[in-house]
Amino acid sequence: MIALSQVTKTYPGGVTALASVTLEIARGEMAAIVGPSGSGKSTMLNTIGTLDRPTSGSVRIDGYDIAKLSDNQLSALRGTRIGFVFQQFHLAANVRALDNVADGLLYTGLGLAERRRRAKLALERVGLAHRVGHEPHELSGGERQRVAIARAVAGDPPLLLADEPTGALDSVAGAGVMDLLHDLHAAGTTVLIITHDREIAASLPRQVRMRDGRIIADSAISDGRHARSGAA
Ligand code: ADP
Ligand code: MG
Repeated sequence: MIALSQVTKTYPGGVTALASVTLEIARGEMAAIVGPSGSGKSTMLNTIGTLDRPTSGSVRIDGYDIAKLSDNQLSALRGTRIGFVFQQFHLAANVRALDNVADGLLYTGLGLAERRRRAKLALERVGLAHRVGHEPHELSGGERQRVAIARAVAGDPPLLLADEPTGALDSVAGAGVMDLLHDLHAAGTTVLIITHDREIAASLPRQVRMRDGRIIADSAISDGRHARSGAA
């Protein structure tokens, strides 16, 4: 599903956020990305999500080499194949949950009635059938993040990328969101989660650890390139 090969990213001003990152994530995997603040986690996720192009190296998502796609083709790839969830939810204020989710389907070109029908199904899927008419300010943090997840998965993308999805939630709401992400994984979605929470990271099948723009450990590669300095 994801293949990064020797990806670097240097921001204007000279910060090297990614320094030759090579990573493969198979279809159907669920993995945590961990590491200190500033280690390049968000830059890597945004590169995988095709929100950002790398400075060098190759990025393949669901079989597509993103360097070969125009900006319009990249938008289409994102719209149909990738769902995003962020720490701060990014819901539209004063827009009810149903339409926050339905607006996420604008790229489909479907009519409003069909988008709302699909939005309702997505909200049911995240356990919010009773909150479709609520606006974000009428929802708890955990419920807002569920709406954001419903929006991310309403179009059934095969890949879900989450950047600190529980970072703004208390532990109970965070656990609920994690249960939901596990359910989506069990239903076949490939899920990649940046997290600072050690327990959450440990609860996922694979952990990828970053530092200074590099992958320094990967639980899927036990005796390979990354883990040499560990106690063998
Ligand atoms: P993390 O998510 O692990 O905290 P980031 O990927 O956000 O790390 O950032 C990695 C490095 O790149 C940091 O040094 C950060 O300051 C820098 N950086 C991130 N985004 C930008 C940007 N848009 N412009 C310049 N530097 C950036
Ligand atoms: Mg970050």
